[in-house]
Amino acid sequence: MPKSRSRTLHAAPGMHDLLPAETALWERIERSARALAEQRGYRLVVTPLLEPTELFARGVGDTTDVVEKEMYTFEDKGGRSLSLRPEATASAVRAYFDGGLHQAPQPVRLHYWGPMFRYDRPQAGRYRQFFQFGVEAIGEAAPEVDVETIELSRTWLERCGLTGVSLQLNSIGDEVCRPRYREALRDHFRPHIETMCADCRRRFDTNPLRLLDCRKSSCEPYQQGAPRSIDFLCEPCAGHHQAVREELDALDIPFQDNPRLVRGLDYYTRTTFEFWAADLEGAQNALGGGGRYDGLAEVLGYNATPAVGFAMGVDRVVLAMQRQGVKLAPRPTRVWLIPAAEGAAVEAHKLAGELRQAGWEVGVVFGAVSLKAGMRQAQKSGAQCVLIVGPAELESATVTVRDMTAGSQRQVARAAVLDEVDRVLGFPEEDDAPNPTWTKAGAIAETDG
Ligand SMILES: [Zn+2]
Ligand SMILES: [Zn+2]
Repeated sequence: MPKSRSRTLHAAPGMHDLLPAETALWERIERSARALAEQRGYRLVVTPLLEPTELFARGVGDTTDVVEKEMYTFEDKGGRSLSLRPEATASAVRAYFDGGLHQAPQPVRLHYWGPMFRYDRPQAGRYRQFFQFGVEAIGEAAPEVDVETIELSRTWLERCGLTGVSLQLNSIGDEVCRPRYREALRDHFRPHIETMCADCRRRFDTNPLRLLDCRKSSCEPYQQGAPRSIDFLCEPCAGHHQAVREELDALDIPFQDNPRLVRGLDYYTRTTFEFWAADLEGAQNALGGGGRYDGLAEVLGYNATPAVGFAMGVDRVVLAMQRQGVKLAPRPTRVWLIPAAEGAAVEAHKLAGELRQAGWEVGVVFGAVSLKAGMRQAQKSGAQCVLIVGPAELESATVTVRDMTAGSQRQVARAAVLDEVDRVLGFPEEDDAPNPTWTKAGAIAETDG
């Protein structure tokens, strides 16, 4: 090891740790996500974090944007080009065909939760390693499945305690009706394109739908009055969109028609949606979104297969929860044991084992210099019940059980310790984990997992 200690190590830029102060909340909303998906027949899929670069490159016509700038791509020792996944949809479709799920009853409903990677400029709520909760329903074209995914993602955001979230909805048609819409967009932007940004000038030829979501001041004014995709839908696309809207209405799921909500890649079709939360400055932040990608399977080289899904940005949802004051404190370990005599550590290990067997989470204060120091440490750790094994207790095969809330204690026989802990704390709940309650008023404290 070098002698110099001047270079302190930190996490890589855009990567961050989740410490226990945050993981309580993360674990909670992950459990909720999983339970809601499973309730609707979605089953967990776990795909590799590393995939052949080709998997992500095939779907991306405009390689300069995503593949070269935004992906972590490298050659492995066998000379293969691999990439850290920037999203999980392509992986899910690959797994669906690789694993023969296309021969199972359709649609195949999958859910996932995990890290994705993008080499992007880090900012609040945007990391280079970020988490997504997503589902994919592969193998069914019916608009009812679109509604199912919208309802699922919306319910999850509600369960996270978020309020004021709006559902933005659009239909971007399909390969039948989109060419005509593309031409209409070009006609609209053609008179202004020379004054628009370099990205937009490039998109004018390659990807005119993206002209609608540029946020530069040089370009945004020209988006006013641009033709809307829903006015160009072919009959099947129009019928699909109408069915989605009617079902959302019937289910009392409010939405806002947003003609500027588009996707840049050709394999996206028909239903497109996003959930937006207003931040403190009133700006709208997308928490996640989804829609149909009926063209993706074919682009990846498989048989044409309709599919719909969503991906929610977990980091952004957590940030929105923090901004709205939704909190969940880490769960304290309620029972602590203090071995406070020569040779008491072994006894503490055994006693802790018995209590854990009975369902309690038990911490042991090892290495305290005195009983007093041990008590201070247990108290700081949130102890509600402290068990002391000191010289007198060891001698008489007893344990002192202290009720920290009442401030009282009893010395009981070794065999009666469990009864005494039960008396002080009540019987352990499942995993000693009381159902968490969001601290924000009005938020839901449900038991769904
Ligand atoms: Zn622009
Ligand atoms: Zn169409």
